[in-house]
Amino acid sequence: MKRVLILDSSAIMNGYNPLLVTNCRQIISVDALNEILKDDEKALVEYAIEIDRLEKATPKPETIMKVEEVARKTNDRKYLSNSDLSILALALDLIEEGWNPVILTDDFSIQNVAKVLGIEYAPIATRGIRKVINWKLYCPACGRRYEDEDISECNVCGTKLKRKPRP
Ligand SMILES: [Zn+2]
Repeated sequence: MKRVLILDSSAIMNGYNPLLVTNCRQIISVDALNEILKDDEKALVEYAIEIDRLEKATPKPETIMKVEEVARKTNDRKYLSNSDLSILALALDLIEEGWNPVILTDDFSIQNVAKVLGIEYAPIATRGIRKVINWKLYCPACGRRYEDEDISECNVCGTKLKRKPRP
């Protein structure tokens, strides 16, 4: 299946760098893009779009309504912004187009609704990772940590993993 990474604004705010991911399609919703307000983060994302490393997209309105309906059932609706809904809806649209989307997000409500909708997700929390010292391999792009010594590429974004010595 063709993998595509969907970036939530929290992914960018937590240090995800779309420029470092070169072998995987990456998409952000227009609403998520508008939630990124810090100048340096905005500049990073806009540059990634400019050089076609990252695409911006808008989900179908009827898919957003479908996501809202599910979120209401799981009691997540009030915790989801328009941007959050758009990220989830974008994932459903992409599944329909035959893609295998993975939402990169640290937002628990997005993760919860994604689970119910059968959408894959992966947390980022690169910031937290800098504090953690008990790990060996990490992905410099999405920040995922690995204990397994036998892999060389990130399971989420396909970026070559880096090694950090245990202190
Ligand atoms: Zn990665």
